[in-house]
Amino acid sequence: MDEILGISVASPRDTFSIRETTVRQALRPDPLPGIDYSFNPYVGCYHGCAFCYVPRLLQIDRAEWGTSVVVKRNAASVLAKETKRLRKGLVAISTATDPYQFVEGKYRITRHALEVLLRADWPVSVLSRSPLMLRDLDLFARFRSIEVGMSIPTLDDRARALLEPWAPPIEGRLRCLRALADAGLTTFVGFAPAYPPTAGWTPAQIAEAFASAGVRKIFSRVLDPRWGARDAMLARLAGSPLDRELRLISNVAYMNSFLDSLADACHACGVDFRRWRDESPRNEFTPQPATPLMALGAE
Ligand code: SF4
Repeated sequence: MDEILGISVASPRDTFSIRETTVRQALRPDPLPGIDYSFNPYVGCYHGCAFCYVPRLLQIDRAEWGTSVVVKRNAASVLAKETKRLRKGLVAISTATDPYQFVEGKYRITRHALEVLLRADWPVSVLSRSPLMLRDLDLFARFRSIEVGMSIPTLDDRARALLEPWAPPIEGRLRCLRALADAGLTTFVGFAPAYPPTAGWTPAQIAEAFASAGVRKIFSRVLDPRWGARDAMLARLAGSPLDRELRLISNVAYMNSFLDSLADACHACGVDFRRWRDESPRNEFTPQPATPLMALGAE
């Protein structure tokens, strides 16, 4: 582990490979309501979460996910040209990678993109699992329209260590949210895909933990078990003392009941709680101006 602003951040694995490339397009139109464009500084993600659906989107072998990253070296300069040419709109950073995975500490593609968007006065929504996000607090504070969030689908770090072992610990993410809120920023949590409660956490305790971290909104959905996500997760749970509890993650009836209780608890704490029900997304959940796809399960 490395320390960044007093927060532990996972160190690179020896076997992780990094490659650089150049791109011709930086912004992609995003189909999700409320988002105009997505900006992804990297292809691939060091965090390698078991449930990530990006391998499906990119049509790459799930076994390879989390073992490499491709750095889009010129993405910010391409973005600068696009902001002069395209209609202004909300940019979600990111939808298919984590913009603050450890390589960002060296390459600063996300930071340079934020500088571009700040100069152009475009609204942004940023979501990550990494407290490295705090490095860019100086930029966040200067945006006219910005939301910043952390993906925190469980408050039990043992569960996190099983399903997203290379992502930063939960405590660091909560501290990051607190620091962002203390700086006056609107913060949100991507509670997705929702983990079942473990270690005795109750919906009321989870809601209180987020409220006391200054969180204003939570977005959630249950796991989409298709395309190998469920099998990949079960493989990581095998032999763990949390196996029986965490397997409930793909029990839709159980998870819906838990999220109903969590929604009530959040509302009681003054935290907005929205969720995506896969069977009726349009009726159940109309995304607000900044609801990144990342908040629904993948950065
Ligand atoms: S869910 Fe997000 S942080 Fe996890 S591997 Fe996928 S892109 Fe990376």
